[in-house]
Amino acid sequence: MLTINKTSSVYKMSARNAAAASCRSGETVVFETEDCFGGQIQSESQLMNGISWDNINPATGPLFIEEAQPGDILKVEIFSIELADHGVMCDSPGEGITGQVLTEEATKFFPVSEGCAVFNDKLKFPVKPMIGVIGTAPEEGSEIETGTPGAHGGNMDCNMIGEGCTLYLPVHVPGALLAMGDVHALMGDGEVCVCGVEIPARITVTVSVIKGKKLPTPFLVTPEKFMTIYSAANLDAAVSGATLRMRSFLIDELGMGQHEAGFLLSTIGNARICQCVDPMETCRMEVSRYVTDQYGYTFF
Ligand code: CA
Ligand code: CA
Repeated sequence: MLTINKTSSVYKMSARNAAAASCRSGETVVFETEDCFGGQIQSESQLMNGISWDNINPATGPLFIEEAQPGDILKVEIFSIELADHGVMCDSPGEGITGQVLTEEATKFFPVSEGCAVFNDKLKFPVKPMIGVIGTAPEEGSEIETGTPGAHGGNMDCNMIGEGCTLYLPVHVPGALLAMGDVHALMGDGEVCVCGVEIPARITVTVSVIKGKKLPTPFLVTPEKFMTIYSAANLDAAVSGATLRMRSFLIDELGMGQHEAGFLLSTIGNARICQCVDPMETCRMEVSRYVTDQYGYTFF
C-alpha cells in the first residue's frame, strides 16, 4: 500500500508544494504523521516555548491525486487512525482560554494503553482519535499555514473527523494536494487549553475524486450525522457560516423550502464549537442522518 512517511511534510498548504506521492482516484493510502510539535517534546520537563515554532503543525504529504481538477470534490474516507503509545499536552500563558489566567507553562504526557488515555491515577478515558489538520491546497497564488483553518480545511480541529467518517474537501488545484497531521487521541470541543492529546499516528484513507456534484465543503459524514464545518475570524461568524451552508444543502440537495430548512435546523440541528484557539475559529452544524434517510438522499 502506498505509504507517505512523516518525513514528507509541509508547513503551508500551497499549490507550490511538490507532491510527496501520487495516486489514482479510489486508491487507499497511509499517512504517517508526527505530533503537532514535530516530535520535539520528549519529556514533561520540556515546555512549549522551549521548542522551535518553525516546526509546529507538520502535515504529511501532499498527495497528488491524478484525476483531481479545480472544481471537483475530494472524498476522503478515513478507515483507521492508529496511535503511538503516548500523547502530550502543553499549556502556556496567553495561549487558548485557560492560558488567559496562567502565569507559568506546563507539559503533560498521556500514556495510551488498552484503548484509553490515562489522565491521572483516578481518571482514564477511551481514546477517540481525530485528525486536527487535514486539507487541500488553496487557490494558486495563496498559501495558508498548516496551523490555520479555512475553506480548504486545514487546522479545523473538529473532533468528529475520525475513524469511519468521510470528509469532503474542495479541489482548488490540479492533483488536490491533500495533506494531514495533528492527530489527537482525545480532544474536547473547543480545545480550550490550545492542545488536544497530541500524538503521532498512522492514518489509512481512501481518496476519490467526485466530479459534477455540489456540497458545501468542508463537509463531514459520520455513521450517525452529517455536518458542515466553517472557519471564520470569530465564533459568531463561524456558527453563521456553518449554519447557512447547511441550510443551503437542505434547500439545494433535499429540496426543502427556505422556512422549512430554518425550522428543521432550529429543531434538530446542533451548532457546535470545533475550536476557538486557532488563528481562525471553527464551528460545525450537525444534522442526523435520519433526515437524509427519510428523504432517500445518499451521499456520494
Ligand atoms: Ca490543531
Ligand atoms: Ca493539535
